[in-house]
Amino acid sequence: MTLQAPWGHARLLPLITRAAQAGRLPQSVLLFGPEGVGKRSIALWTAAQLQCREPSPPCGQCRDCRLAVRMQHPDIHLHFPMPRPKSGTPQKMQEASEAMRRERLDLLAKDSLTPLDEGAATGIYLSAIRNIRAAASKRPVMGEFTVFVIDRAEAMVPQAASQQAANAFLKLLEEPPDFVYILLTSSRQAALLPTIRSRTAPLHVPAPAAEQLAEHLVEAHGADPAVAQAAARQCGGALGPALRLLESGDGDAAATADRLFGALMSGSFSARQRAAAEFSSRGARATLGPAVEELRTRMRDLLCSAVGTPELAFSPKTVESALSGGRERVGGEETPDPDAILATFPALDVAAEAANHNLNPQSTTAVLLRDMSRALSGKPGA
Ligand SMILES: [Zn+2]
Repeated sequence: MTLQAPWGHARLLPLITRAAQAGRLPQSVLLFGPEGVGKRSIALWTAAQLQCREPSPPCGQCRDCRLAVRMQHPDIHLHFPMPRPKSGTPQKMQEASEAMRRERLDLLAKDSLTPLDEGAATGIYLSAIRNIRAAASKRPVMGEFTVFVIDRAEAMVPQAASQQAANAFLKLLEEPPDFVYILLTSSRQAALLPTIRSRTAPLHVPAPAAEQLAEHLVEAHGADPAVAQAAARQCGGALGPALRLLESGDGDAAATADRLFGALMSGSFSARQRAAAEFSSRGARATLGPAVEELRTRMRDLLCSAVGTPELAFSPKTVESALSGGRERVGGEETPDPDAILATFPALDVAAEAANHNLNPQSTTAVLLRDMSRALSGKPGA
């Protein structure tokens, strides 16, 4: 965790700063935008800015800033979905919830990209809401403000068992004490309770352009340019997912698959030949296998687009750009027919099997692209 201004938001951050310094920042804000663009980082940076009393906050040096970086500032409360605490008295459950939260904050202090969401079995439950209300009813410990950051606020589920607590939280959102700020984040704005949406000032956090992210990945994270471009496109400009992709090493396979997919969709024989020739002649299992699997997901995305559900695609931008590139070159051609797309899958199975047996990746890829291309043009086995 650092207090550097979160990357990729050069337009948004000065707006927040000006509003905060002029005392015009709304007290209940909803930061919404795509997954992984840095909404939580922006909220925590804003929280530190509200606490820091130096001339250009957050200075990163003062006591407030240092505590904020370590996730230990007593007046900054980060909440996020967690497993439900074991049943017990409300008091015991609140304590258990708080202990879990502290544990995760320590992890987050060490690595700000630690994924906090552990799947569907988590939520922001009543015990956490009660803790928030308790903290909001006391004056801040160190400074002027108490700031709550509630990450993935859509995980605040309606809790019929305690309408009273839910209502009290809504009242807090609607009329916070003058020393309280509540910053909610969500990438699933539609899933938020309408009662929460209507009580917060919306602040859109857009994803930076993929090209801009690719440059950043090369300059600040030493990524290979081709890998960076593929990762940035696949993640739609979102930094968090792109970094995880690079770390996992799957970025290489994604870049290769994008290259193969582009060659395939170009409809050009020589482009396919060139794409195949870029493989080294050995080590198919390590390089070709993962790329074939990635290419399979591109074809799946293409199928989503062909059957009219492009929103289900994993990397819609890749498909879109390959399709528009193909249209320009081939001249007015539409998305391939769903049956033709389905007919390419057997060739992928054959290539996966070949990669698994460590066959020559160049010739395997040449055959793969030839067979897929034939299937797409409706001439399988021609
Ligand atoms: Zn400071």
